[in-house]
Amino acid sequence: MLSKISSKLVRKWALKTLIIIGTLALIFLVSESRQTARSNSLAQPFNRIAQISPFENPPPNLLKPPKSKTPYSPPATPIPKPPQPPLVFAPPAQFRSQIVYKASISDSKVIALTFDDGPTPETLKILAILQKHNAVATFFCLGKNLIENPEIAKRVVQAGNAIGNHTWHHYSHNVTEKTASDEIDNTGVHIYRSSGAKSFLFRPPGGRLNNGFADYAKKKNYVVVMWSIDPKDFSQPPAAAITRTVLSQATSGAIVLLHDGGGDRQQTVEAVSVIIPKLKQQGYRFVTVPQLLQMQAAQKQQNGDRKPK
Ligand SMILES: [Zn+2]
Repeated sequence: MLSKISSKLVRKWALKTLIIIGTLALIFLVSESRQTARSNSLAQPFNRIAQISPFENPPPNLLKPPKSKTPYSPPATPIPKPPQPPLVFAPPAQFRSQIVYKASISDSKVIALTFDDGPTPETLKILAILQKHNAVATFFCLGKNLIENPEIAKRVVQAGNAIGNHTWHHYSHNVTEKTASDEIDNTGVHIYRSSGAKSFLFRPPGGRLNNGFADYAKKKNYVVVMWSIDPKDFSQPPAAAITRTVLSQATSGAIVLLHDGGGDRQQTVEAVSVIIPKLKQQGYRFVTVPQLLQMQAAQKQQNGDRKPK
């Protein structure tokens, strides 16, 4: 009886043990199969990445910098230079609205040749002589000639000469302020258009100071430039007569009246080709009217500085 009970208990225990072991084994198997499945699912994409080695097969856009869709090409026209400030021929402040006949210069020998009524083809002959002797002068132009010969006016200024206003038509009769304004302002515009220079130098036609032009010019801050030596070259005397007058009257600070317009200027051209080297031999330097006035202003300034206080 006792052995029956004990064998029953042993069977029960053995059965329980089997169930527990079986359950444990089942749990173990299930968890093992899940882990394998997970590691497989991780390994697959990793293997796929490993197949595309960035070093062995780089995409083409990593080898070369990307090409620009709109390649650079130089501009069709060159970049324009910044505009230069205009050249201005103006007297020192003390000479504005004043009439000058000559400059008062005692410390050096300087002289200013002036040529009226151009620009014309004769102007080019004068320019050639000036250039040959490394001299400069002042050219008082007519508006009606500036529109005919703008290139010559440009060459006048490019060669270092000064340019001035001599009205448009060279009227000698009395003019209204309106006419004076038209004549002088329009000539000023064409001086600028042809040469690129602004000028505040005015020479009245025929040297007349009382027919309306000089008054208007003074009102507009021009210096009215007259002369101290007049060899009357306009009436075409022999070149020797022109030369004689200029050489005999030459003084430092003198302003000489000559012409590069109004007809054939052969005598003037010949005279100038002698006057310049002769005066240079005497120690003269040729300067423009604004340079001459500047020298007088500078000299006065120096004398003023030297005066004892
Ligand atoms: Zn004139």
